[in-house]
Amino acid sequence: MRLVLLGMPGAGKGTQAKLLVERLGLAYIGTGEFLRDAIARGTPTGKLVEPIMKAGRLVPDAIVNEVVAELLRGPNRPEKFVTDGYPRTYAQAEAFDALLRLEHLELNAVINLSISDDEVVRRLLARARQDDTEATIRQRLAEFHANNDALIDFYQKRGLLKTVPAVGEVEEIYANILRALGLLPEATKKSAT
Ligand code: AMP
Repeated sequence: MRLVLLGMPGAGKGTQAKLLVERLGLAYIGTGEFLRDAIARGTPTGKLVEPIMKAGRLVPDAIVNEVVAELLRGPNRPEKFVTDGYPRTYAQAEAFDALLRLEHLELNAVINLSISDDEVVRRLLARARQDDTEATIRQRLAEFHANNDALIDFYQKRGLLKTVPAVGEVEEIYANILRALGLLPEATKKSAT
């Protein structure tokens, strides 16, 4: 199973990626984690991206694309994986697509964890990071939408997109993901009486 996880900040993408890794035995491809690791090890890439990440900006496409390409081109590349935080821009989605084609690896699905903007604001405010005010969160959301809407369009056109509501308990959302992947039977609808 090869999956891409998309979702707003606060949609629980990291949590769901972790469950998919633990329970389906997928390798974790988290570019944020890889980059933080590069910084901790003091590699040339780490030195390059440290100020960019500190400033809360996106790392240039060419750098993240190369990090992912190195992993998937290597002799010990994972055959099944879930990505968390990659691709993040349309250009990254195109580069990833080209890489996967070259490596004869096909994606099974792209899971879009969807929640409303108001719910994101509520969840992120509840986390109470000091720099999170409603205004800064809405600003980040606007930036996020600009990229994410393009990604959704990209994968929808390829017939890979599965939108999963990211509301409810962690286990409910996980079950929704499995259903979208056809790994669990559809839930029986409760009658509206
Ligand atoms: P994350 O752990 O996914 O929230 O990523 C943390 C930071 O790493 C982001 O704020 C970006 O600076 C950088 N980063 C991670 N993944 C990407 C990506 N796909 N494209 C650009 N920057 C990224």
